[in-house]
Amino acid sequence: MTILRLALPTPLRRLFDYLPVPGVDCAILVPGIRVRVPFQSRRLVGILVEIVQKTDIPLRKLKKIIEIIDAEPIIDHDINKLCHFAADYYHYALGEVYAAAIPTLLRQGKDAIVKKKSILLANTMGQCTEPLTLNDDQEQAVRAVYAKKDQFQVYLLDGVTGSGKTEIYLQIMAHMLAQNKQILVLIPEISLTPQTVKRFSERFKVPVVSLHSNLSDADRLSAWVLAKSNQASIVIGTRSAIFTPFRHLGLIIVDEEHDSSFKQQDRFRYHARDLAIFRARLHNIPIVLGSATPSVESFYNAKINRYQYLSLPTRAGKAQLPDFQLIDVRQSPAEHGLSKVLLQAITKHLAAGNQVLLFLNRRGFAPVIYCPQCAWIAGCKRCDMRMVYHRKDHLLKCHHCNAKRPMPKACDLCSAPHLQILGLGTERLEQALAEYFKDIPLIRVDRDNTKRKGAMHELLQQIHDHPCAILLGTQMLAKGHHFPNVTLVGIIDADCGLFSADLRAAEQMGQLLLQVAGRAGRADKPGTVMVQTKFPKHDLLQLLIAKGYLPFVEQLLTERALSEMPPYSFLALIRAESLSQERAREFLEQVRSITISGTDDIELLGPISATIAKRKGCYSQLLLLKSKKRMHLQYYLRLLVPEIEKIPNAHHIRWVLDVDPLEVL
Ligand code: ADP
Ligand code: ZN
Ligand code: ZN
Repeated sequence: MTILRLALPTPLRRLFDYLPVPGVDCAILVPGIRVRVPFQSRRLVGILVEIVQKTDIPLRKLKKIIEIIDAEPIIDHDINKLCHFAADYYHYALGEVYAAAIPTLLRQGKDAIVKKKSILLANTMGQCTEPLTLNDDQEQAVRAVYAKKDQFQVYLLDGVTGSGKTEIYLQIMAHMLAQNKQILVLIPEISLTPQTVKRFSERFKVPVVSLHSNLSDADRLSAWVLAKSNQASIVIGTRSAIFTPFRHLGLIIVDEEHDSSFKQQDRFRYHARDLAIFRARLHNIPIVLGSATPSVESFYNAKINRYQYLSLPTRAGKAQLPDFQLIDVRQSPAEHGLSKVLLQAITKHLAAGNQVLLFLNRRGFAPVIYCPQCAWIAGCKRCDMRMVYHRKDHLLKCHHCNAKRPMPKACDLCSAPHLQILGLGTERLEQALAEYFKDIPLIRVDRDNTKRKGAMHELLQQIHDHPCAILLGTQMLAKGHHFPNVTLVGIIDADCGLFSADLRAAEQMGQLLLQVAGRAGRADKPGTVMVQTKFPKHDLLQLLIAKGYLPFVEQLLTERALSEMPPYSFLALIRAESLSQERAREFLEQVRSITISGTDDIELLGPISATIAKRKGCYSQLLLLKSKKRMHLQYYLRLLVPEIEKIPNAHHIRWVLDVDPLEVL
């Protein structure tokens, strides 16, 4: 008997057995092809995993598949291994992993054909940009990778902003392309600007595709087919591009490897950088992780020689690293977020005809609407969050669930008419700046004014067109861009990450600060960075600014070692969500009480309420699992997850497992 064992796009962690259509030629049943099947009252597209002779399901209950879709596997050998590994490691259903790995149109059963060839960015007409003459550090880095170009090795390229990492990528890529190898470049969501893609596509006379969230489904499918068939030599993409099939993959580059957008934060929670390392091992090829601010984990791996460490301590060309200055806003009070010292500096840099970049990681006008009569604060009804006042739309918005309401005329509780607007967002800062600097162009960049397609591009063009201007914005403006005319960077409020208890808050604060600072003085003009804080004596802030990023990370490592946190331990987080807080809690208590024998070094912490205890009307409770050994944690989860699924009311609770969580609160 021939039974088809399929992975279906459902969260159920199991495979499904079906019978083939009668009379089918078994030779065409190869693993990796898609088939359409009846499932409950629907039709689903599944992937054939294996053909078996026996099943535990009674024969009369087995359904027949409806049709075979492919003549050739959609999931090739390598992607199959990658997906199996991911399903195993993150403990998700193989069907769900496959679904994340293939383009939407393939998920829907459409043909794997190139719909639009125009997405290939071929640089066949124009001149290619010339490779730059490398400095010694760059030269060494390129040589180190080239020396072992045909084997698996992880390189951590730790190069300050503007040190010429991209030039290194390009020159290593040139070697690989000369051998007809394909290259995968992963970059964070936020830096996939046309500029970045252009830099890669203008150097080589080879076809390049870029995979980003603004692509249509047809474009995405086309890019996928072009990579799989070796018609595209370079694929540049965000997180999910890690699942792109290649015929001759020879190199993986992960730029800004520390960036949290590499971690998928809903549904199937995977880390694209970590999967990239697995994939490089699978293909036996080098992988370069580049960053000006490496993650604590990667830095640790370099320290214990698991990764080869390559360092670029100085900026390339003539550019100098900026000077840092801490401004104590208790001494120099800030009005509308701008202290006197900063205001003077802005005036000076503008007078010299340069650009000033001001960073504030809070969009909207003001984060707090407050009633002075009864101390009521406008909060979201569905979340444990304050609502943010957006002046342009005259609305209050919840930044967590997108709920909106008109700006109230009076207090919800006591009806007092005069509500106060407290705190500072980018809109309010913009307004204040417009009053101080009447004739200077102000260019604001945040999520609110870049939603429209092409808006970001226009703003970048404006920045380019106005050599003397004030740029202000959130982290959208902080990362990846090259603004040669910025000589002053002002960080309006450095304090938000200093006191958060979350595992990576300090690390991320440091990274963001240096990334923003890195926008200053990138060309031949020297830069200054002014950091406004209420805590200029804070140890970590001092260390970061006086000594630099490495001592800062060393300090974080010391703290992580003391608290036995990653990379000195391994974590998994189970989050349970329910309309009833009690139910979520009880569920996790049950999970906690499941005994798994054979492991004794698993620590269970919780259940506790999430920091934002209520989101979108649901209460979140957390259970953290911790072990000193990755293997032990994996073993534990392998036995635990099936037991969780057996908990009688498990399907009434939304629960998710997050292995190697970025946030634990
Ligand atoms: P990173 O990626 O590390 O931020 P980039 O590769 O963007 O740095 O380089 C920053 C700037 O320095 C770019 O304008 C680049 O053209 C220039 N640059 C890079 N390498 C060299 C070099 N060897 N000589 C001169 N300029 C260089
Ligand atoms: Zn009130
Ligand atoms: Zn909300």
